[in-house]
Amino acid sequence: MLITHDTRCALDTVVDLVNSAPEDDTTPEGLPDVAALKEFVRQHEVSEVGALTEFDLTAVRRIRGRFAAVFAAPDARAAATLINELIAAAGTTPRLTDHDGYDWHVHYFAPGASVADHLAADCGMALAFFVVAGEQERLRRCEAPDCRHAFVDLSRNRSRRYCDSRTCGNRLHVAAYRARRKEAAG
Ligand SMILES: [Zn+2]
Ligand SMILES: [Zn+2]
Repeated sequence: MLITHDTRCALDTVVDLVNSAPEDDTTPEGLPDVAALKEFVRQHEVSEVGALTEFDLTAVRRIRGRFAAVFAAPDARAAATLINELIAAAGTTPRLTDHDGYDWHVHYFAPGASVADHLAADCGMALAFFVVAGEQERLRRCEAPDCRHAFVDLSRNRSRRYCDSRTCGNRLHVAAYRARRKEAAG
């Protein structure tokens, strides 16, 4: 599956967006205010974004929930329905661009789109390609019991189960190792 630079950026952006949501009452909101949204937009180099307001913050949090549902979708059909809704609501204007020295690629957000519509259109299309490629199952949520982070499994054999093997993966290995030792010591 060919993943272009821009698709890769859109995937990183949507994963970080989904994971900015508080998982429960004890974890912090990753996008608590407009300043945090500005920083998110800067970090992810979301282009052509104007001044941001409370309205944008609310709208971005709303689409964040809809993207989270795509990562939790049980099959391609469910994911397709959700992605279609996201993209339709955003309105799209596909056009070729080679901005900022990148190779030719397609932007989907309409000119002058709000940041929420921009993210819905371009991140939505990035996810759409996974469904088209028969790779919807690569859009995953971490299987660690106390972590439901979204991630995109780009491993060759689609074997990744945890959001970050250095934290979640290791943590589970250690827990399994301790459990085995305890059993052996019986
Ligand atoms: Zn671009
Ligand atoms: Zn995790």
